[in-house]
Amino acid sequence: MAAADVWSKIKIQQGDITKLAADAIVNAANSRLAGGGGVDGAIHRAAGIEQLQAACRKLGGCETGDAKITPGFNLPAQHIIHTVGPVFGGGQRGEAELLASCYRRSLEVAAENHLKTIAFPAISTGVYGYPFEAATEIALRTTAEFLVEHELIEQVTFVFFGRVDFESASAIIERLSPARDNS
Ligand code: ADP
Repeated sequence: MAAADVWSKIKIQQGDITKLAADAIVNAANSRLAGGGGVDGAIHRAAGIEQLQAACRKLGGCETGDAKITPGFNLPAQHIIHTVGPVFGGGQRGEAELLASCYRRSLEVAAENHLKTIAFPAISTGVYGYPFEAATEIALRTTAEFLVEHELIEQVTFVFFGRVDFESASAIIERLSPARDNS
């Protein structure tokens, strides 16, 4: 697909990702896939803590930058793709490449499972401390690059919990996709 056209498949919205009826939502997990706070905790509660923990235990953890899939259980989403973002330690520890890998690997897992609609939270930008604007630029660019090569994915939605994050992401997507049709 032409690089300019992929932006029509990328959406941003404000809200709670646990409410989305996508083929998969992505979880900002920890490497033990044990559940935790933030969006991880919200996803575990909404999916059903015990059944999701049991499914996660079978996966044997997940490396930073990698992604693994489970069912969505009680979520409106059919699947959960768990990815582990880098803890931001100043930017000289490969954080940007690891964060890009989270998006790439999550989308690869989605494509391998023939999933067509995927929603991401702002991975690593909460407790893991990645600066929001830099992280969002990586998220959007990596996704756009992936979609050029993988036409079967129909829609990727980025869900921002807070209004300030959503508005900041709106400005970033405008800047990255000058040919985007915003109607
Ligand atoms: P990390 O540990 O990867 O930084 P966090 O869960 O702390 O993950 O934060 C990641 C992002 O998820 C933050 O921007 C936070 O505001 C957002 N977030 C928290 N809860 C939700 C939710 N229910 N839906 C969407 N985004 C959420």
